[in-house]
Amino acid sequence: MTIEQARTSLKHNFGFNTFRPLQEDIIQAVLAGKDCLVLMPTGGGKSLCYQLPATVLPGLTIVVSPLIALMKDQVEALVENGVNAAYINSSISPEKSESIKQHVQKGEIKLLYVSPEKLLSFDFQSFVRGLSINLFAIDEAHCISSWGHDFRQEYTQLRVLKQKFPNIPIIALTATADKLTRRDIITQLKLENHETFISSFDRPNLRLTVLPAKKRMARITEFIARRKQESGIIYCLSRKQTERVAMTLHDEGINAEYYHAGMDAAERSRVQENFVHGRTPVIVATIAFGMGIDKSNVRYVIHHNLPKNIEGYYQEIGRAGRDGLPSETLLFYSLADVVLLRSFAQESGQPELQLAKLQRMQQYADALICRRKILLTYFGEHTEKNCGNCDVCDNPPELFDGTDIVQKALSAMYRLNEEVGTHLLIDVLRGSARQEIIERGYDHIKTYGVGKNISPQNWEHYMLQMLNLGLIDIAYDEHNALKITAAGKDVLRGKKQIQLVSLDSIENRVLEFANTEQRKSKRQTHEEELFARLRALRISIATQHHIPPYIVFTDATLDEMTRRMPMTKEKMKKISGVGDTKFDTYGTQFIDEITKFVLEKDIAGEKIQGLSQDITFAYYREGMPITQIAQTRNIKDETVYTHLAELYEHGYAINIFDFMDKETLTTIMDSLKTHGVPDKLKTLYERLQEQIEYHQLKLAIAHYKIHAGQ
Ligand code: ADP
Ligand code: ZN
Repeated sequence: MTIEQARTSLKHNFGFNTFRPLQEDIIQAVLAGKDCLVLMPTGGGKSLCYQLPATVLPGLTIVVSPLIALMKDQVEALVENGVNAAYINSSISPEKSESIKQHVQKGEIKLLYVSPEKLLSFDFQSFVRGLSINLFAIDEAHCISSWGHDFRQEYTQLRVLKQKFPNIPIIALTATADKLTRRDIITQLKLENHETFISSFDRPNLRLTVLPAKKRMARITEFIARRKQESGIIYCLSRKQTERVAMTLHDEGINAEYYHAGMDAAERSRVQENFVHGRTPVIVATIAFGMGIDKSNVRYVIHHNLPKNIEGYYQEIGRAGRDGLPSETLLFYSLADVVLLRSFAQESGQPELQLAKLQRMQQYADALICRRKILLTYFGEHTEKNCGNCDVCDNPPELFDGTDIVQKALSAMYRLNEEVGTHLLIDVLRGSARQEIIERGYDHIKTYGVGKNISPQNWEHYMLQMLNLGLIDIAYDEHNALKITAAGKDVLRGKKQIQLVSLDSIENRVLEFANTEQRKSKRQTHEEELFARLRALRISIATQHHIPPYIVFTDATLDEMTRRMPMTKEKMKKISGVGDTKFDTYGTQFIDEITKFVLEKDIAGEKIQGLSQDITFAYYREGMPITQIAQTRNIKDETVYTHLAELYEHGYAINIFDFMDKETLTTIMDSLKTHGVPDKLKTLYERLQEQIEYHQLKLAIAHYKIHAGQ
């Protein structure tokens, strides 16, 4: 199998014009039969990395997925794209399961989704033995690791996969980047000769904002009121809170429902379905909500409370803007949350780990440098640039040369063998004489007391910045000892200067947030209108077909349609997300809606740039006579003919014999063949004894140009 076939399938089946970063490399490795570990953020485009190979490889791809909802969604999306896929899990009746198995046996299914426990069950194993399997895809692979944030016992059964199927490649995919989890996945799945692909965890389309919790409800209400049609999620810390917040929103006329693990399963799935299908735009939920929801057009995620760690937070905000369109994230931050979360952490099975993670979360919320830098650094990615799409970037605090301060801290860490945590380090820097320090002899190191003039809080603040700048790291598995990174070593050796942020109020930022919200530039009015119409069409189709709207077309696809306004098959097929099957099922309806819209605008005298020929064509296609087209459009007849000639030359379905007989065409063609195409139409007119009309000449020239090469 070649990458060319993969590229053909990319457009044909998935409707995409280009691969996203890394997708092509990964697919190439999979097609070459290698084991792969893929780390990509939510919305990065992981599914394509196994779905596309599945469409071009002979045989069956088995996808292991932890969640029923997720399987259903993915299978629906594949089927819409004309790819035969099915799932077998506990939600499926034995009869249905049997019939799927039969289809699989006949080789009619390209992708089969199963839960891990199903895959390794006795009867399934005997079923699978006779099949020609080309690939195992393990989705949400971090579930196998107890280091990850979503450990699932069932996943550990996958350890035997390589023993049972030593020759079948495995692709493991996850959005969890941390190193321990990564190592764990590789060892447990026994991916010995694997390739690891780590894509950037950056999600540049997500805007990051953190606000103090003061007047939280009023801000949330105001924020949502400005985007009532759009889907969003609000995360709360407790079940009660979700109910209260939903109630408040309801009172403000916002269509919101709550969701938490205390509700019965039927009720939960009803709420989830309403959200997925676009019937309830706002869900107020605990973190129980969202796993396994692939809805690509979530436009904002709000955290009513501080999340307990960055992994969770990043995954939750990652549910916004999977389609790549600009999306908002808001986090509200209060001391009360911190206190509560600390107590949770302390009572958890791993208090040290949980507290340290919480601390990093707080540091993010408190940050005075680009928030995206902090997130990316947390996931081990180093960036120099500020993102320009977070609240801190918009209101940058003042900076000063902090190299000296940083060097003091790093040097102390170095002399303490990188074995101590923040508090002890600060105490040493400040020259504390407490017992532990004296006993360990830390009072004899060279940097003891060099940071006396800086208060402990300010030291913490600077350490936080150092952490966020990627100069130091916290080793969770070594009692949170502070480690010096490669970048930190450069500073220590005097190779690099460091700017630190001076302490400043965040009040400005809050004011700025409110102002920006009001200033938000809108799309052009007619684009806004068309988008709304396409969205309405999408909803009606989705309801009719019992699928979520974004499976018909994503917001990104509708957005591109809105900008390009394709009114022909060729143009529609160029839109990203319009594959062949999708075009056959829905293409015409969308072309018709767009055409209707554009013609209405044209008649109303609202000219839309760059579409004049297409509009002429739309009328021509309807069979409207030329003079009438000219009148309707308020243009000259000759202009209509010029359009038609251009359209004809570009391959549009125009019947030239609507405008002349064969004989006339031959006469003109003969002249063109002998003398070529003259600069001026008049020359041709005169060459043909002024017997043939100008518009016929125009069209015949187009005909000549098309056939000149033959
Ligand atoms: P993940 O599983 O990594 O969270 P998905 O596979 O669900 O991400 O993809 C996220 C979104 O990106 C989906 O809407 C998908 O259709 C879109 N997408 C994936 N690959 C491409 C591509 N090459 N071009 C355009 N859109 C893509
Ligand atoms: Zn930024």
